[in-house]
Amino acid sequence: MKQYYYECFSCKFQFTKKQIENELLYLCPNCGTAEKNKPLVGVLNIFYDYKSISKEIDKKNFLNLTPGKFWLYPQLWPLEYSSHGDSVSIKGITESQLDKIETISSPLVKIERDKNELLIFDDTRNPTLSYKDRASALVALKALQLGIKEISAASTGNAGSSLAGICARLDIKAHIFVPEKIPLGKRIQIQSFGANIYLVNGDYDQAFDLCLEISKAKGWYNRNTAYNPLTTEGKKSAAFDMFIALQGKLPDYIFISVGDGVIISGIYKGLWELKQLGWIKELPKLIAVQASGSNALIRFIKQKKFVYKPAHTIADSIHAGAPRNLYMAADVVTKTNGLAVSVTDSEILDSQRKSAEEFGLLVEPAAAASFAGYLKLLKTEVISAKATSLLMLTGNGLKDQQSLTTWNEEPNSFSTNEWKQILKVK
Ligand SMILES: [Zn+2]
Repeated sequence: MKQYYYECFSCKFQFTKKQIENELLYLCPNCGTAEKNKPLVGVLNIFYDYKSISKEIDKKNFLNLTPGKFWLYPQLWPLEYSSHGDSVSIKGITESQLDKIETISSPLVKIERDKNELLIFDDTRNPTLSYKDRASALVALKALQLGIKEISAASTGNAGSSLAGICARLDIKAHIFVPEKIPLGKRIQIQSFGANIYLVNGDYDQAFDLCLEISKAKGWYNRNTAYNPLTTEGKKSAAFDMFIALQGKLPDYIFISVGDGVIISGIYKGLWELKQLGWIKELPKLIAVQASGSNALIRFIKQKKFVYKPAHTIADSIHAGAPRNLYMAADVVTKTNGLAVSVTDSEILDSQRKSAEEFGLLVEPAAAASFAGYLKLLKTEVISAKATSLLMLTGNGLKDQQSLTTWNEEPNSFSTNEWKQILKVK
């Protein structure tokens, strides 16, 4: 069997690496469609020879790895590599290039909350301060191996700033398409990393479609989330890092904020692979948390059909009227006996404040949504506080300062003498 192959999520047709990568295809050549304001059809998954891999990688050795260095087990990635005895190297990529794209090595934070332990997976300290670095790193390595020096992406902000930052580290040109209302912090991040930025008069869905069209015409490697199968694939590294950080003892529930549905699909893929390798017996239940104004997944699970509705939420990173990976995301929620829950913007902002005050973790609204979902299910007793829950915190709070000003008042300014009087110091 070959190292890996592609399989369409929709029609289940299988394709060789050559068929997909030599032609620079992204969606299934048989049924793939990317239509305006609709979820993608024909998203490709990548599968490996798990039987052989389980003979090559030992669970005990795997648990001794450091989180954040996914290339240390190249058998589970769609990359060219060579092995010499115990050591492996990624073809065409230097050690120093790999070091530059390492994600957080200590992602796990254990919190004591009402005498119960709550696990937090803190991805706000990655190279560009968000979860998206996991996908950008894999996409960038693939581009280098394919000899491509320009990558494009549509983004609500994080995927774009992540791709811009990772490309700056690896000397690749990045082209980023974003909605005009992108938070200032994210826009500045993209520009500072030297990427070309294209502000689109419209929302993320429009930026996504335009990016596809222009990338195809220009021959850029496209990192659009879900569209490029390496985005879901790259995001599985969190499941492996979680497995290492928890020394194999996975939680009962994982709370994941959902916009396009790629992070939740990626985490599922990693967990599913751990099971294929025989390292875990059961998968944690995946809880998808959406903003009530951007709840396409919740509506789809209930009504079994997709109806486009423009999204409205303060949590820009999960703002998606047409989640591109909707069908896969709904499937992984069902397969793990999980569920999808919605939270209001005010619940999100309240959780953002609580996360900062209780845990000392300043996260952006989309990341706070997972905490809001947890609090909601705890309150309604859908889950017990005694069950082990893990929250995915996916983006740093400083990326969106506007939302922080909604619950932090502008402080007054006084002269030194006035302060002394106020504080009663002579
Ligand atoms: Zn297909």
